Amino acid sequence: MSVIRGSVVPLSRSLGRRHPRRRLLAVAPGLVGAAVLVLSGCAGPGTAATATPVPSASDWSYNGATGPAHWDAVAKTCRNTSASHESPIDIVTGTLKSGSATQAVRIDYHPTSFTVENTGHTVEAVPADLTADAIELDGTRYFLQQFHFHATSEHTVDGKHATAELHLVHKSKQGEVVVLAVLLDPGADNPALDELLGAIPTSGKEAELTHAIDAAALLPAGSASAQYEGSLTTPPCTEGVRWNVYLSGVTLSTAQLRALTEAYAGNHRPVQPLHGREVTRVPAA
Ligand SMILES: [Zn+2]
Repeated sequence: MSVIRGSVVPLSRSLGRRHPRRRLLAVAPGLVGAAVLVLSGCAGPGTAATATPVPSASDWSYNGATGPAHWDAVAKTCRNTSASHESPIDIVTGTLKSGSATQAVRIDYHPTSFTVENTGHTVEAVPADLTADAIELDGTRYFLQQFHFHATSEHTVDGKHATAELHLVHKSKQGEVVVLAVLLDPGADNPALDELLGAIPTSGKEAELTHAIDAAALLPAGSASAQYEGSLTTPPCTEGVRWNVYLSGVTLSTAQLRALTEAYAGNHRPVQPLHGREVTRVPAA
């Protein structure tokens, strides 16, 4: 834990169990008020210090009466209004605003020890050192808090889903959130994920990985990105999250993707309306 401001909510409350590691986040007041987020799943669930209630992991799901269309029942911030700036979105490549390479995310990842967790909604990997891996964007440094998966993808490109999507969730010392999103499709094996995908624990459990992971091996080399302002894609759907979606994907083997979808298939929120937001195409650095 490097930054805690305001009141905090342990992950254990939302998961209904004790948890050895609190992953808490204070979001800058200019972004989403004084929200304090628990970085789990797509950076959620959990807020405190605001009127937004803390949704329990068991109170929402990806289908039926507790599915995305009903998330506003557990967090009113998930309600889609004409002013909402929610995620994920469909990235329409023909309408992207042109950006410059100076806006590209700079990666400062290293081989790092991770724990793999099954949160009940996703497979998530948490670094042992929450300051070990970082990115830089617009002169600000953001530290990797966890990465996790959705299947099928949450973002779409020109209306098309990828088989799965990886979210690498970062926060700055000021509590601002940046998520790098990587679309995953079948192809060559990615050895960096071999141990993790072979060690997915049962729901509510975690397992220490013996081999370090260099998260740079999870990113597409030389890819342009789509950048926009959005939200968490899980309750409480808090806005003020900066997204960088790589326009080129990476491949996992069919067996690796199967390991993900056997744990969670269909853990994706549908795309949300843009409501006037600009999406910028940023070339690779
Ligand atoms: Zn996510």
